Formats: sequence, C-alpha cells, structure tokens
Amino acid sequence: MENLNWSELGFGYIRTDYNIRCYYRNGKWGELEVCSSEILNIHMAATCLHYGQESFEGLKAFRGKDGKIRVFRMDENAKRMQSSSRGIKMAELPIELFEEAIRKVVKLNERFVPPYESGAALYIRPLMLGLGAQVGVKPAPEYMFVVFVTPVGPYFKGGFQPSKVCILREYDRAAPNGTGTIKVGGNYAASLVAGEIAHSKGYAAVLYLDPKEKKYLDECGPANFFGVRGNSYITPKSHSILPSITNKSLQQLAADMGLTVECRPVPLEEIATFDEAAECGTAAVIAPISQIDDLDENKSYVIAKDGKPGPVCETLYHKLRAIQYGDEPDNYGWITIIE
Ligand SMILES: *Cc1c(COP(=O)(O)O)cnc(C)c1O
Repeated sequence: MENLNWSELGFGYIRTDYNIRCYYRNGKWGELEVCSSEILNIHMAATCLHYGQESFEGLKAFRGKDGKIRVFRMDENAKRMQSSSRGIKMAELPIELFEEAIRKVVKLNERFVPPYESGAALYIRPLMLGLGAQVGVKPAPEYMFVVFVTPVGPYFKGGFQPSKVCILREYDRAAPNGTGTIKVGGNYAASLVAGEIAHSKGYAAVLYLDPKEKKYLDECGPANFFGVRGNSYITPKSHSILPSITNKSLQQLAADMGLTVECRPVPLEEIATFDEAAECGTAAVIAPISQIDDLDENKSYVIAKDGKPGPVCETLYHKLRAIQYGDEPDNYGWITIIE
C-alpha cells in the first residue's frame, strides 16, 4: 500500500496511477481505455468548454476490516449520470459500462485505497464531456467519459461536529425548471459567489430556498438537507434539488429505525420546529447543522442548543458508515466488492 498519512488527508487531488477513458463516436461507445496521463487533449472548440456540456459524479470506495474494497451504490451513480446526459443532451453511457469502468479504476489504483483504521476513502470522480469542434449552439457530435480516483481523508477530523449555515435570498443555485435536478458543473459555477459570501461570514454552506417562491427549503450548497422532528425524517422535495444517493439511503435507514419519512415541500418557518437538521452527501455522509441564520430577515434558528449532533443524526451516520466499511450487513445490495 502507498505510504501516505491517510488520516491527515484532506479533500484535495493526489495523483494516482491510472484513469479510465471511453469515447462516444459515430453514434456508439468504444472500449474502455486505461490511461496513465492526467492530461486531456481536447479541441478548443469542444462544447464542454463553451456551452457547459459537462456532468460529473462522485462516489467512494472503502477498505473494510477484512481488507476487502467496497464501492457504495454505483448503479445509482450510473443512473444519475444517464439522467444528467438526458438533461443536457449528451450521449448516455450504458450502466454496465459505467460499472465496469468503476471496478477497473479502483482495482488498478488499489494501493491508494486507504486502510480501514484511517477512516479515509478512495474518492471516485466520473465525468462526461461534450467534444468535437463546434461554435454553433447545439449538442456535440462526440463525447468522452473519464473516471479518475484520488484518496480523501475523513471528513470530520475533529469529531462529528455541527456547523452553521445561512440563507441568502439574493442567490439561486439553479432555476425553477432548470438544471438543479442533474449533476452538472454549471450548477456549481452558479453557486460559487454565494458560497464564498457564506464562507467569508463564517458559515459552512448556503441553505438555498426554492428559486420560484423563496418559501420552501431546497438544498444546502452541494448537499441535500434533512430535518428531524420527533419521530419524523423530513427532507425537501422540489424541482431544483439534486437527488442525493446518500439522502435516499438515509431515508431507508430512517424508515428501518421506525421513523416516518416525509419527502415534501418544507416551508422555511418549519425549521423552527426541528429537533435536528443536517446536510447529507457522499463527502460527509451527514454534516449536522447547529444553527441556520436567515441573513436577509436577521433571524436565527438555533437547532443544536448544546452545539452537539442530535441522536438521530448520530445513529444514521454510524449506521451508514458501518454498511459502507462492511462492519454491518448489506441488507439492500448497496455494496459491490471489488475483486
Ligand atoms: C452530488 C450532490 C449532492 C449529494 O449527492 P450524493 O449522491 O449523496 O453524493 C447533493 N446536492 C448536489 C447539488 C450535488 O451535486
């Protein structure tokens, strides 16, 4: 295994040995190609560079106590990437080809999968690009699918700690019937200004309101939002939220714990009634929220009065991580073991 200080790793880029590439030309996908260069050689008039024909995914591989490498719900990432392709008129990559690419890239970079004890993981980043020289606004004739990996450290270095988020009504991440439901780079570019304002004021993220009426909760920067009240797990439903695979998994685990899962429009004022609130996504699994500051209305919603994560967040977090690392049984077929 590589000799890195695994538990001190952040969420940055570290070079690994190989990446996988695959091209769509003349109406069909080619073979998976193994590549050791980190550089893409693409035409300056490619549509991904000008008109945002780009989508990506993010998932992780974990090394268990038994030494085996597990990838979490990659079929869901494959399906979501297809939905992103449909959303911005790119070629759809077959699910089997996506899964084969993931298995291959993890296996080839096996020495970069962090050891179990470190709490770190191998981050897997698939991306899809529109290629071909074109200046008119229309879908590209050719596409390139790339997957690379990089080891990332544990998200919570100082323990599982809640943070503060803020509401900034002046900014939207996505339009009401725009590209919010698909995982495209353009949504991220659109969120950078608000994200930087939030960070400069000491917040971990922006909690976006629905872009149409500004009445309901949407999502939290690059993560979904959920709240807990009594025996309910409550998560917003809207036309501009990216369907998080982590959220979907947590909803299942919450139901298994006997909680009622509510996926519906959540009015902003309802956060005053929440016992717990959190962001969720692949990076952190769950990042609990201690306080939500509505900066336009000068109003604060304090959720974790003692500054500690609530019991439901705590249980769900440990439960999902235990499944990912193979410490608990995989009852739903969420895990692929890389052999
Ligand atoms: C990727 C992403 C998430 C989290 O999705 P997971 O599948 O749980 O990692 C949430 N919101 C946005 C906007 C995202 O891009």
